[in-house]
Order: sequence, then structure tokens, then C-alpha cells
Amino acid sequence: MKLFGGIEAGGTKFVCAVGDSTGTVHEKIRIPTRTPNETMPELIAYFKDVHSKTPLSAIGVASFGPVDPDPDSPTFGYITTTPKPGWAQFNFVGAMRGAFGLPVGFDTDVNGAALGEYRWGTGQGLDNFIYITVGTGIGAGGMVNGKLLHGLMHPEMGHIFVPHDKRHDPFEGVCPFHGDCLEGLASGPSINKRWKVKSCSDELPDDHEAWELESGYLAAALCNYIMILSPKRIIIGGGVMKHESLLSKIHPKVISLLNGYIKHKTILEDIENYIVAPGLGDQSRICGAIALAELAENNIR
Ligand code: ZN
Repeated sequence: MKLFGGIEAGGTKFVCAVGDSTGTVHEKIRIPTRTPNETMPELIAYFKDVHSKTPLSAIGVASFGPVDPDPDSPTFGYITTTPKPGWAQFNFVGAMRGAFGLPVGFDTDVNGAALGEYRWGTGQGLDNFIYITVGTGIGAGGMVNGKLLHGLMHPEMGHIFVPHDKRHDPFEGVCPFHGDCLEGLASGPSINKRWKVKSCSDELPDDHEAWELESGYLAAALCNYIMILSPKRIIIGGGVMKHESLLSKIHPKVISLLNGYIKHKTILEDIENYIVAPGLGDQSRICGAIALAELAENNIR
């Protein structure tokens, strides 16, 4: 069986794994995200060791961004404008190709997660769906007509604007670029700052008004995505979504906001199976990185 290397490149940690075409992860390690000069040698040493014992067919990278995912661009495979020290204009694909001479797949972390769910999770068999994560940041990836959604660069669905009634919620938001965009109002750090807690999921009880507000912002965002992309399913994960009752608070609000305009039975009669948690749990991204390697090996974009 062919083996693939997968890298989930995140803001605080990198997950490096070896997996196969059944979605089985054979082994994985975590490396803290420091500068490329510190993190990359450790990562490369891990895969060199793996590759010398059990040869890999390709490597896939699902990365924090912004990134350049366009194979025709001269900066394909770069992390582009991140403020994270050392990572701006970092040629990730070049570094991996240089070290291993293997095909390297590359995309955003959220497109990676969407691909993982498409191959082995709750996106299976769906040619149009989105995956959204609500955690330290908010981001979404998508499958459109069976292909990962790109475009000029890649979507940044976490930075959309949702109605913000400042009389009801005077919080100014935490996005350094937009203040009160969705990420500014509804990411984990924004909830923590608004309610002056360290970990909203643990510290704010179910009946706290924080969750009413949060589910309202997320429901508004999901309605926008439904209107624009008409996804056949919405998969929603991330640390904030681990708060038990949040998903069930979002469901009726989405139906209420759509207000009968979108009359599809999938939404009206089966919303619990329309807006769902990731089938792969916390493994969507790393499985997606392995699936990106699989695509690269088969030369599929
Ligand atoms: Zn923003």
C-alpha cells in the first residue's frame, strides 16, 4: 500500500503524519510552530527518518495562510503575507520538494480539512459542501463541483461582515484588519475577550448569553454561505464548536434567518444532518493533508 506524508501547518503547532489511501493515520508527531529555521529542520528530519524506512509516494501540506495555492503562479506553495515571524514569503513546497524530490500537494488548512472530509468524513459523495472552523480564527474551505474552491487566491470566509447591533453587543471585535468581521466577533479569542474569560468553552455555561450571541453570528454567516454557494452540507468544527449546545443553537437560527426563502427539505426537515460536526473530528486537517499528497501523486489539482 502506498504511504503519504501529511503536514498540518498551524499557528501554534505542526502535525506531521504518515497515512494511506484508506484514511488511516499510521503515525504522527507534533512540532511547535517557531520560525521556519527552527521548525522546518525538525519536520524534515522526521520525514527523512520515515522515508528511509518506509518510502513515501508524496507529501501534502495543509497550511495556515494566507497562501498561494495556484500551481501556475511563480509563488505557488508559498505562505504569503502572514505576520508570523519568519513565515512571510516562505516557500513551503520548494522546501519539501528540495528535501525529498517527491510530488508535494499544497492548499489552505481549511481546504485541506474539506478534502479530508470529502475523502473519508461527512463530505463523502458530496460535490458541493463547505467546511468551516471556529477556533482561534475562523476560516472555511469548500468543494465546488467536486473541486476545492480557489479563485483569485483563496476564499477568506471568516472575514465576512455579519450584522452587528452595537446597542446589544457593544464589543468592538478583535480582527486586526476589520475589527468586527465574523472572526472579530465570533472567534474563540473574541468570546474570551468580550466576556473576560480564558477559555469560553469551559468557563461559560450553556445558558450564558455568550452562546446566544455566538450562535446568532454563526447562523448569519452560514446563511450568507448558503445564499452564495448553495452547499449540500455545512461541516462545522474547531475549538469553539466543542461547546456542546452551540450547534443545536445554530440550527433553528439558520432556519429562522432564511425565513422560508430557501425551501429545500434538506434544510427545513433535516437541519441536524445539514449543518454537522466533522466526521473526522479533530483529524480533518491532517487527513486532508494526506489526501492532498494523494492528489499530488496523481497529478490532480
Ligand atoms: Zn477580519
